[in-house]
Amino acid sequence: MSDETLFTRIVDGEIPSYTVYEDETTYAFLDANPLAPGHTLVIPKEPYERLNEMPGDVAADVFGVLPEITAAVEAAVDADATTVAVNNGPAAGQEVPHVHWHIIPRFEDDGVGPIHALFEGVDLDEDEMKAVAEAIRDNR
Ligand code: 5GP
Repeated sequence: MSDETLFTRIVDGEIPSYTVYEDETTYAFLDANPLAPGHTLVIPKEPYERLNEMPGDVAADVFGVLPEITAAVEAAVDADATTVAVNNGPAAGQEVPHVHWHIIPRFEDDGVGPIHALFEGVDLDEDEMKAVAEAIRDNR
């Protein structure tokens, strides 16, 4: 876990932000480059780089408030839905090394498509599906 990140500087008030939620472990603020009005970032105050490194209790705290923040974002901008996503690691497009959930308001006619539109998909046969499921179980 790095000591200071862009987002810890926001939490500490060194960099101004539009704060929408704060408690002991969690902080939420508007993305400075919104993909839609109300685009919000939700973070643990502690600067875990990736989701993978978050202790379960901290993750439980953050996940505990995600539903209400998501609902509030939708209500605030009268959105039809939201895409809630984490770019979890640089290869997935993560630019700020402090784990964060994007809550992006979505509208019936926004033409953006689902997260699935990012991928072409792969064909895996039954043996490959079994092998990867076993590997995931073994690596927990
Ligand atoms: P990532 O690509 O790491 O998933 O997303 C980082 C997000 O942080 C981007 O959407 C970007 O617009 C946002 N961001 C970067 N710098 C700042 C900043 O100084 N303030 C705020 N509020 N958002 C920022």
